[in-house]
Amino acid sequence: MLDIKWIREHVEEVKQAARNKGVPCQVEELLRVDELRRGLLQQVEQFRRERNRGTEQIGVLLKEKRKEEAERLKSKVREWNAKLAEYELELAAAEEQYRQLMLSVPNLASSDTPIGLTDADNVIVKVVGELTDFAFEPRDHLELGEALDLIDVARGVKVAGSRNYYLKGMGLHLHRAVQQLAIDVLTDRGFTVMDVPLMVREETLLNAAFFPAGKDQTYALEENKWLVGTSEGPLISYYAGEIVDLSEGPIQLAAVSNCFRKEAGSAGRDVRGLYRVHQFAKVEQVVLCENTPEAAERMLQEITANAEHLLELLELPYRIVAVCTGDMGSKNYKQFDIETWMPSRGAYGETHSSSLLMDYQARRTQLRYRDADGELRYCCTLNNTAVASPRILIPLLENHQREDGSIYIPQALRPYMRGLAAIPAP
Ligand code: AMP
Repeated sequence: MLDIKWIREHVEEVKQAARNKGVPCQVEELLRVDELRRGLLQQVEQFRRERNRGTEQIGVLLKEKRKEEAERLKSKVREWNAKLAEYELELAAAEEQYRQLMLSVPNLASSDTPIGLTDADNVIVKVVGELTDFAFEPRDHLELGEALDLIDVARGVKVAGSRNYYLKGMGLHLHRAVQQLAIDVLTDRGFTVMDVPLMVREETLLNAAFFPAGKDQTYALEENKWLVGTSEGPLISYYAGEIVDLSEGPIQLAAVSNCFRKEAGSAGRDVRGLYRVHQFAKVEQVVLCENTPEAAERMLQEITANAEHLLELLELPYRIVAVCTGDMGSKNYKQFDIETWMPSRGAYGETHSSSLLMDYQARRTQLRYRDADGELRYCCTLNNTAVASPRILIPLLENHQREDGSIYIPQALRPYMRGLAAIPAP
């Protein structure tokens, strides 16, 4: 959420930011409702003052035995009360409309974000590692997974419908190994690792800015609960409504969780294998830092570097793209995606998303800290994937396959893979 005072003074910038992101945003309507609610608030306060004065006055008149005047004033107070009730109702409706409109205003984008509406406008900023060169005809992850009995998509679909799968044997070990490696790397880098609630209140997802826009991607449960699409929501909300201490440095939280996504609107896209599924596991980084451009940029670089370090440990070639305005989330201020080489696609595929939100999410979640001058300020928040599996199994299996049908296991994973240096050929 942006600051309403700032919006009032920067209407054109807000409109332009929404256009650049391709997000509908009714700024004029927001300003009209804002004025209406402020007017109503003044009237309500005035009526309350008059009513209170009148009630006090009645007491005085009754004490002085001026009964007739007291009765006249009583009927006036009744009138004010009736009027007040009407205005209070109107105010509540205007406040709700104002809240909805405020929630729909997207974040601004940083001045160095490429402007464009689709991923074709993303800009490559870094390429790391050589593309894998095969002296044989490589197989895709599904063929490999089936041949080695690591992945069973057919039975996943039989049991749970499209975009579902089973991981088996060494497939499961690999899935758990990448997550445990990520947890260990983040722990070493000062993160507090957590297990978090995955069924959360609607308010949690509204405050973390996944709602209202992302509702159609989220599985609803009973009792006003929702199944999370990422642990970012529960992690961001951990300190909701609190004043946190950033005097010793940023707060770095990480969670390992399952993620559930409807993938509405992606019918027919990425239907083969494990790329786009309804349920996956993700180790997520979330950071709360001081709300200054320097701290924000430093932390964005750090959480991106954490993900890069993991890809280096997994010995995978990747590249980083600066995500353009229309392809970044509407809540993001700046975003880098990391894309890992996937031989079967003959292309890099997105495996990580590193986002800076400035104080947009913190305003909604009411996350504040005291700066060096003791002033209360909203925190800056950031998030990035550390690893998401099974998508990461695609580059792992495909890049590390060998001609004899076995799969090489990178050194860093071996302690989590029962010491195995390769998944043997069948
Ligand atoms: P996001 O939380 O949307 O930024 O996604 C972070 C990472 O989670 C992506 O880069 C993917 O690696 C992974 N991911 C997101 N959606 C899916 C999905 N439907 N199936 C598998 N992996 C996904």
